[in-house]
Amino acid sequence: MRRAWVLLVFIAVTSLSAEKPFDFATTPGKLPKNIRPIEYAIRIQPDLAKLTFSGSETVQLTVEFPTRQFVLNALDVSVTEARVDDKSIANSAIKIDTKNELVTLLLPEELRPGQHSLALKFTGKINQFGRGLYYAKYQEQGTGAKKLFLGTQFEATDARRFFPCWDEPAFRAHFQLSVVVPENWMAVSNMPVANERKISGGREVSFQPTPSMSSYLNVFCAGEFDAIESETEGVKLRVITTKGKAESGRYALESTAQILRYYNQYFGIPYPLPKLDQLAIPGGFGGAMENWGGITYYEMALLFDPENSSVTTKQRVYEVIAHEIAHQWFGDLVTMAWWDNLWLNEGFASWMGTKCTAHFNPQWEVWLEKSIPRDPARRIGIPKEQAMEGDARATTHPIQQPVASEGEANNAFDDITYKKGQSFLRMLESFLGEEPFRNGIRRYIQAHQYSNSTTADLWNALGAASGKPVMEIAAAWTEQPGFPVVMVKRENNCKVLLTQERFTIGFDNASDGLWKIPITYFIDGQSAPATILMSEKTASLEDIPADRALKLNVDGAGNYRVAYDASSWKLLLASLHGMNAPDKVNLLGDAWAFVQAGREPLAFYTDLVGRLPQDTALAVHEQVINVFDTVNHLLADTPQRDRFHNYAQRILRPTLNELTFQPTQGELVTASVLRASLIQQLGLLGNQDVSKRCRENFQAYLKNRASIPPDLRAPTFAVVMRNGNAEIWQKLHELGLKTTSTEEKQNYYDALAFATDPALIKKTLAIALTDELPTSRAVFLVSKVARESDRPDLAWEFAKANFKGLIAKVDALGANSYIPSLFTLFTDPNRIEELRGFAKTHLSEASAIPVEIAADEIRFRANLRKRLIEQIEVLP
Ligand SMILES: [Zn+2]
Repeated sequence: MRRAWVLLVFIAVTSLSAEKPFDFATTPGKLPKNIRPIEYAIRIQPDLAKLTFSGSETVQLTVEFPTRQFVLNALDVSVTEARVDDKSIANSAIKIDTKNELVTLLLPEELRPGQHSLALKFTGKINQFGRGLYYAKYQEQGTGAKKLFLGTQFEATDARRFFPCWDEPAFRAHFQLSVVVPENWMAVSNMPVANERKISGGREVSFQPTPSMSSYLNVFCAGEFDAIESETEGVKLRVITTKGKAESGRYALESTAQILRYYNQYFGIPYPLPKLDQLAIPGGFGGAMENWGGITYYEMALLFDPENSSVTTKQRVYEVIAHEIAHQWFGDLVTMAWWDNLWLNEGFASWMGTKCTAHFNPQWEVWLEKSIPRDPARRIGIPKEQAMEGDARATTHPIQQPVASEGEANNAFDDITYKKGQSFLRMLESFLGEEPFRNGIRRYIQAHQYSNSTTADLWNALGAASGKPVMEIAAAWTEQPGFPVVMVKRENNCKVLLTQERFTIGFDNASDGLWKIPITYFIDGQSAPATILMSEKTASLEDIPADRALKLNVDGAGNYRVAYDASSWKLLLASLHGMNAPDKVNLLGDAWAFVQAGREPLAFYTDLVGRLPQDTALAVHEQVINVFDTVNHLLADTPQRDRFHNYAQRILRPTLNELTFQPTQGELVTASVLRASLIQQLGLLGNQDVSKRCRENFQAYLKNRASIPPDLRAPTFAVVMRNGNAEIWQKLHELGLKTTSTEEKQNYYDALAFATDPALIKKTLAIALTDELPTSRAVFLVSKVARESDRPDLAWEFAKANFKGLIAKVDALGANSYIPSLFTLFTDPNRIEELRGFAKTHLSEASAIPVEIAADEIRFRANLRKRLIEQIEVLP
């Protein structure tokens, strides 16, 4: 598996050929293209006591060529009855292929081309791991009563667990859903309710049919819900929550109106459905899903409580909403033809969501923000550094990659797809110009609405709107893996020679590549930045004064790194005082990457840090804090760690002193976020004074919750637990058990992961098997312990011993990568064989790639750790 995949990568490098525009007949997939569904009418009746459901459906379809069989997708549903054009099919003619997730109906006679109908009856299961129709239990706000709700999650390939269907994105159809729910439940789907009636055992709710769309975008949720609503530009907006929580959806409801108006304008086609529901669900799955007209969110991504939520939560809510609503056009109205173009959905929504968030909230520095990505369950809205880190490794892949199986489709949801996609679009927009770019997007949406598309369709539209060779520029960025580093060398006569090569980390025999790089640069003291398109291996800049600093990659908006020769670097260091925050963050990011790659020693980075002016731009400090956090973990159990702690405290402490420990009236929102990061990091770096303050504040908090401002709660709990004993653990655990706020609960349980006493670590790990946390979150507690306690060995022992119980809770996107991800915290290369051995007997074929990614990460960490130990002595 793995080997074949690597080969494909190399073939792609040598033959960069633009792919074709969308064509239904040649779109990849398993299902034969001669039969197309047009309209489904589906009726589902759940049995909440047995956690099963029974269903029936009638599908109107078009047959293009004479056929003797129907092939469609089904998984974990049993088809009990089938009729074609009202003629019954014998049970023996219904063939189930579990491995390929297919059901084949052998027809008694050849079916002629034209319109036909298929009627099926079936039964299925309601699960708790967030695939298909799932249930989750929760404590109700206010009453504390144990309740249950139903939800669905279909992307990428799980609609087939709910009803047999043509479950590939190019098979668009209209879906009309009816469901039976208990009397006092609210039921929600993509479209408004058409009618409802009382029946024995509950209420039957029928929804209006959807516009033509892909199967994975269907949604159904039901439970004891509350809602708040408003209307904007003719669209009815609702935020729906479990009972008692609706008011915490106010911020989301207001933000949605703002975002929807912005997109109506940007895309040039107004939001096409009559309503947009957004549901905050307390478990079942952990992310957010752009189901057309009925977006689902894990509660923490949608609810904001002004009294108790942190600024970080507020930003995340805005960003995630902006991302999911962008999908209503990019993904739902126009859908990628096949999963090899998943980046069209995700890269675009990430870029668009961030652009919209930055537009309305410039104070958040969203393009630079580095404070949130530590959460392994969070996949949205993080800038390019993470993507570049993965893209430099041997385990990278092109943005567009072949996808043959369901498991591979789920593997495609990674940093390259989301963040490299986003980063490339940002670079392309700044090269083409904001307006030509938007015109291209409008042209693309107009041409492909209610249909599918490929990357080629997007490049064609952007090329036509801008008059620039977009296809030619883009191919190297989306069809070959990796990205370049541009080397800057000063020559005589004010000339600067630029040379590009592939940038790699721990990947010795990487193939080279050639990119068309839209390079931006400025000369210190000259106001306007300039642009050139670097198309060849080398290029040169003229008229660059020999005594002036030259900075490439203005604002760090480009997806490439820059290595300066000694004299250029010296001039840059001397010009740091006048440089803006994005450019400083960019230099820090590149410098750290060079240390990771072994191109420069640690001192290259720390020297730059030491020269930074003491301003408090959030992003600059966040970059440093993140690197210190990485180094601190890598030096676990080494005698060198103390020396590093002293150094890092000396660097960070003055900034906290300047900010002060408690918030000040009227301060910038970034000050509050930075304070939280500094307190946590300094506490973890062993700063006695910060630890003491946290302890005192925690004691005060136990008596009066308002005594710690929301932004400082999570860091305070983490620091207190790091230095705390069994009694602290107990207190935090009690608080976590009691609260019905998902955000507060997460804060308390996350803090438990910072304990270092093995007895406490084991107690924390055991929680992952209980139902104290929603299933989708509980499993990540193990990852959190592995990371924060510096004891990945204990986390892995626990996971190995409880493999079945844990894996039953992991959703589709995590199923292949969950176990390998626990290994990424090791620094001992001997663990690689252990992981491979375990994968061979316990994990699916689709885990092969995550296993190799983990193996590469272990090698990388072992190597970097060794170098850091050797180089730590030079720290000032
Ligand atoms: Zn998305």
